[in-house]
Amino acid sequence: MNTRAERWPGRSWYEAEAGDESRPALDGSLRCRVAVVGAGLAGIGTAVSLIERGVDDVVVIDSDGPGGGASGRNGGFVFAGYSLDNEALIAQRGSEEAGRLHRWTRESVRLIRERIDRYDIDCQVNDAGVLLADWFGEPRRLMACAERARSRLGFGLEWLSPAERAAMVRSDRYGGALFEPGSFHFHPLRHIRGLADLIERRGGRVFGASPALVIRRAGPGWRIRCEGGEVRADEVVLATGGYDRRLARRVQRALQPVATYIAVTRPLGDRLGHIMPSPVAVYDTRFAFDYYRPLPDTRLLWGGRISMASRSPSAIRRLMRRDLARVFPHLHDVTLEYAWGGWMSYARHEMPIIGQGADGLWHALAFGGHGMATTTLAGEVLAEALCGDRSRLAAFGHWPARWAGGLAGRAAGQAIYWRAQFRDWWKDRRGSVAEREL
Ligand SMILES: Cc1cc2nc3c(=O)[nH]c(=O)nc-3n(C[C@H](O)[C@H](O)[C@H](O)COP(=O)(O)OP(=O)(O)OC[C@H]3O[C@@H](n4cnc5c(N)ncnc54)[C@H](O)[C@@H]3O)c2cc1C
Repeated sequence: MNTRAERWPGRSWYEAEAGDESRPALDGSLRCRVAVVGAGLAGIGTAVSLIERGVDDVVVIDSDGPGGGASGRNGGFVFAGYSLDNEALIAQRGSEEAGRLHRWTRESVRLIRERIDRYDIDCQVNDAGVLLADWFGEPRRLMACAERARSRLGFGLEWLSPAERAAMVRSDRYGGALFEPGSFHFHPLRHIRGLADLIERRGGRVFGASPALVIRRAGPGWRIRCEGGEVRADEVVLATGGYDRRLARRVQRALQPVATYIAVTRPLGDRLGHIMPSPVAVYDTRFAFDYYRPLPDTRLLWGGRISMASRSPSAIRRLMRRDLARVFPHLHDVTLEYAWGGWMSYARHEMPIIGQGADGLWHALAFGGHGMATTTLAGEVLAEALCGDRSRLAAFGHWPARWAGGLAGRAAGQAIYWRAQFRDWWKDRRGSVAEREL
């Protein structure tokens, strides 16, 4: 998967808005202390965290450029937590350890926000926050969730009654909502490009259009052979997201690439303020939830679905239009000017895979759909470990790189998604029947 078109057809609104940019391609051979393969937020975040600790002899290479993968084409929600849901995290690790792990993601949300200010990154930050809207009309369940998150994880979510929610988002689809204080939304491509500029200003190097072909041990260090040259490094970090499964099979065979889709409307003008009086980012309580947020030029960014398959922009438009109209029926005919998708990477355990293999190769992979805070966290944890402090890295040893099952695993993943989608549909239907019978 080399060029952007091969990876995913369809230009994103982010690319159109921010404009094209190209980083130099690697040409010849060079040496560095740490080389990072993959300029998504996991790779760029690791380089930034190293630079902040005084390690500036860092090289990042990418087959496309910073944010060419999921990190530059996602929903732009910056919120706490992992893809593994909170209840499962508590069940697996107990309240104390789960609370510690969850706190790190909240600190990472704050770190992203602080870096935006500290490095003056112009990325359309919107501090209105993120809402989890109640799709099934289960206020008691949501309030109980918020109470468990508070008492067991130290995570304070605010319950909004249906009237309070309606003052922020006007749709008959929802009941109340949970609001996450401190969360925000932003333009992820501008954000990651801003961090890449910072790396270069501080003496690091970032190369685009430079796919790594082979990573091999060379004496005490490593040799990365790329199209156009090679990098020799003391340490190598693999951060290739869902876009590569061939460079280091031992760890990458634990990954399932999973697609999700986004469409962006034409500017809506005053209509946007009418449906969303508050510029919050919204997702809902279904397994296969919608996620959407207003953009500064009065467009609505609408995302949703997950699948094991790539889809054409026109197929994405069809699906997103249907989903959008269920929540805001009077927008059923709105023009969707942009449509695209991207690959996330998931491990079977739904937690990130962060660590160092027996051969010494470092890795930060499998952030799923909760990738902005967790990739930033991975960057911090790996930079700490590369500088000699492995205490936080050890916490992720509980979720190793286990084989994801290859093609059978992919088919099983799709079946699980369809089953969950059916459960959502059934629950929704039962709810509507119960309402009619009242
Ligand atoms: C449509 C969509 C919406 C999402 N919405 C959100 C959201 O709102 N909030 C949130 O928190 N998360 C969201 N996510 C998830 C989040 O974007 C990802 O979890 C996160 O960006 C993963 O970062 P990464 O650095 O691991 O991978 P990526 O960002 O995919 O980066 C991997 C990089 O590695 C490069 N690469 C791959 N192979 C090679 C090679 N051989 N040589 C050199 N470079 C290589 C690729 O070009 C790519 O740039 C979304 C994901 C998608 C796809």
